[in-house]
Formats: sequence, C-alpha cells, structure tokens
Amino acid sequence: MSSSPAISRVSVDILEELQLFAAQNLEKVEVNKYYEVMRELGKGTYGKVDLVIHKIRGTKMALKFLKKKSTKLKSFLREYSISLYLSPCPLVINMFGIAFETEEYYVFAQEYAPSGDLFDIIPPQVGLPEPVAKRCVHQVAIALDYLHSKKLVHRDIKPENILIFDKECRRVKLSDFGMTRRAGSPVKRVSGTIPYTAPELCGPQREGFSVAYSTDVWALGVLLFCMLTGNFPWEKAMPADGFYEEFVRWQRRRTGAVQWRRFTDEALRMFRKLLALEPERRCSVKEVFAHFGPRWMLDPLNSSSSEEELLAERLKQQTLAPPTSGGAESGPAHLFSSVSTHSSVSSTHSYERSARDSPPSSRILVTTPIEICV
Ligand code: AMP
Repeated sequence: MSSSPAISRVSVDILEELQLFAAQNLEKVEVNKYYEVMRELGKGTYGKVDLVIHKIRGTKMALKFLKKKSTKLKSFLREYSISLYLSPCPLVINMFGIAFETEEYYVFAQEYAPSGDLFDIIPPQVGLPEPVAKRCVHQVAIALDYLHSKKLVHRDIKPENILIFDKECRRVKLSDFGMTRRAGSPVKRVSGTIPYTAPELCGPQREGFSVAYSTDVWALGVLLFCMLTGNFPWEKAMPADGFYEEFVRWQRRRTGAVQWRRFTDEALRMFRKLLALEPERRCSVKEVFAHFGPRWMLDPLNSSSSEEELLAERLKQQTLAPPTSGGAESGPAHLFSSVSTHSSVSSTHSYERSARDSPPSSRILVTTPIEICV
C-alpha cells in the first residue's frame, strides 16, 4: 500500500513551511481600512509597534511594522513564522495569524500586552521587589526552555523583550524573535556589544561561530541581576570592564566582588551557574527552576548595609575603568537608567530606546552598538 503524501512528508520542516505559506498569502493591505490606530507602543530603526483596534472584530492588537527599506522579506517571514511557531506556549506572546504588507512596511499582528515591557517597571538602582523578580524570571525561564526544546535560541533576551500584563509580573510573555535562530546554525559577527552579551561573543574573535543555547542562559543571568538591583552588572563582559574583571576574579577565586555581596549563598550559586565564564559549563535554563522556591536571593543583612561600600567601589571603578567606546556619556555605565541597544542594521529589530523615567541628574547608560549576528 502506498503512503499518502501527507504521511510520507512527516519530516517536513514546519518552520520552512510556515514561511512559504506566509509568503504565498502576503497581501497588500491598507491599514486604515481594517484597523483604527490608537497609539504607538514602540519605535526604532527597524520600524514601529502600534496599538490598533480591528474595525470589524473590535479586537485590540499590537501591529509590528518593519520597514521594507531595511528589512529583507526573508527576515520578516522568518520573524513572523518563528513567532507563530512558538505562540502555543502560554509564556510566549500570542499571534493572530495576520501578516500583510503596505507600500512602506511588512506587518504582523500580535496579542497586546497592556502593561508594556519589563524595562519600564524596573526602578533604576533599586530593582524590583524580590518576589516580583523571581516570578518574572521563572516565567521567562519556562518560555526559554520551550524555545530550547524546539532547538531555537532567542539571542536577544533583555527587559525590553519581556512583555508584561500586570505590574506585579503575574503574567509575562517573551517576545521579539527577530534574532532567533536554530541552535547550531552558523552566524557571522558584525559589530558591537551590549551588557547582556556573553563574553565569548564580545571582543575580537574568530570568523563566525554557531548559535548556542548558552548565550540565552548568560543573558538570563544578567537579566536577573538587573531585575534584582536596577543596575547592569557591567557594561560589557570584557576584561577592559572593571566590574566584569571583578566578577571574573570572583568566579575563579570566590573573592571580592562587592556588588555581588548583597545576594544570598543560594542566589550566588545560581549566578555562578548561569554566568559561568565558559559557555560549556553554563547550566541549562531548566536548572534555574529549582531556585525559585521560597528561598531568598537578596541577603537582608548585606543588601542595604553595603550601599555605601558599593558606591565607593563604583567610584573607584570609574577611575580605573577605561573610557567606554561609542557612549555619549561615560561613567559607571552599568547604572540601569536607560539602555540603548541600537543598531543601524535593522534586520535585528533592535531599536533605539529613549531615556525614560530617568531623572535629569541620573547617569545614562549608552551602550556601544548591539552585537549583530547574521
Ligand atoms: P519589539 O521590537 O517587538 O521588541 O517591540 C518594541 C517595543 O514595543 C517593546 O519593547 C514594547 O515596549 C512594545 N511592544 C511590542 N510588542 C508589544 C505588544 N504586543 N504589546 C505591547 N507592547 C508591545
């Protein structure tokens, strides 16, 4: 008996198929005919995200507009298809299966997250209350575990890409799959770096490398630090960065590292695994789950009393650390006031983030351009 075409094609690559179907069905649409634009939710070199209401259904949606000028059709189809493919996970932003083009943009529709993104709710230099941070990272870790189980690596984990549905982070979802690639696929490094980038991807390096889960694990560690403290642990994970140097010494010899003293031993054990210097020694995101029980991460005895010590250390580092390249303002650049992960290469959909909520006197972090891998 001959097998049907459907059965004989069981090994079909769903992602490839999704892209082909999306390409076939991509129609020109006049946005105003079907959608009422309410306001802009996000903006950058890549394009913009608008909150709209579907005129027939009355459904609120977030429309992501990617400029045709700077986005290849292939990149758009990849981001749309990966987002669609991952959307069954309840901790990944949902999709409506709507993709179209206009004169200027490629567009797809996403579920609207009413409380914006995580970046907006992290108080600079203070951080989120520990239960909120834990709840949030736990959900991000589950979403990442789902991605990794599908053999995909997000490659751009940061607060701006975690959408929130309430300020207490009872429901958060992972979004922005513009940089997501299959694990093991080859990529070329183009330029720059950001605080979430793993050390093996920073600095001068060999020609090309392959996409690895361990880079998401590193970024998750940095994200957790940011959430709990309201600071970046360093500006970039390179020896020239005094804070990173101090961290490396702590990882190797378990000494020093003033800004890590505020954490409990339990939390430090987790950071040690998430932020292992060698990618092959980093834990999987699954291992993170075990640490989100009732145990505390911030040491109540150390966290407040070491503030002065921290400040002194920062000032010391400020004089020790070489000036940052490309930053509009230097200083203890890891203060979590605002981060711009901008790039002129918009295929990554990284965007310029204007300084929000930062008082005029606060020192603004302007990172060097984002690590762009194609
Ligand atoms: P993206 O380029 O997809 O990371 O989007 C840029 C910014 O737009 C995000 O950091 C959010 O602040 C906002 N945004 C994107 N998608 C949504 C959404 N589905 N709901 C609410 N805000 C969003």
